[in-house]
Amino acid sequence: MKIGVLALQGAVAEHIRSLEAAGAEAVAVKRIEELDDLQGLVIPGGESTTIGKLMRKYDFISAVRDFAGQGKPVFGTCAGLIVLAARIEGQEESHLGLMNMTVARNAFGRQQESFETDLTIKGIDEGVRAVFIRAPLIKEVGPEVDVLSTYKGEIVAARQGHLLASSFHPELTDDYRLHAYFVDMARERG
Ligand code: GLN
Repeated sequence: MKIGVLALQGAVAEHIRSLEAAGAEAVAVKRIEELDDLQGLVIPGGESTTIGKLMRKYDFISAVRDFAGQGKPVFGTCAGLIVLAARIEGQEESHLGLMNMTVARNAFGRQQESFETDLTIKGIDEGVRAVFIRAPLIKEVGPEVDVLSTYKGEIVAARQGHLLASSFHPELTDDYRLHAYFVDMARERG
């Protein structure tokens, strides 16, 4: 399995390390041509407005829509989740708009800007280590979206067919199970 990590801005090297630990070949993606021989794509955390802007500049919006349109798995973490969402609270425009959900940016407030916790993730296990950094929350999901994990009653991970999203950063821990879950999604499709 060859999985790309969109390398316009954000936590790229950490995702590559986690994907490799999960048994995939992982590469940084900087040009749309590089999507051609990939079986999956990760959109990392960072700043969603910056990532969205750079995606528009380098033609990644339509290229990733085509990629996902072929049924190839895409995994967005933190800012990457915001990039995948159809609706962003308080903003008129979305970025890729692929997942039928509404997200709220920086949803944890000042008191809890960054923290680590253990989550139960459907299809994986209990005690999955997760790092939240100025994280978004999923406020509302459409009927085709499967909620995979909640934290204090709020949705923090979800899946819509071949699209996967997490509010947190799974790549900043040594817990590779969510990456392994995504590599399995790519494998199932292949
Ligand atoms: N707060 C960032 C945003 O709104 C996301 C933070 C992150 O990716 N760690 O884009």
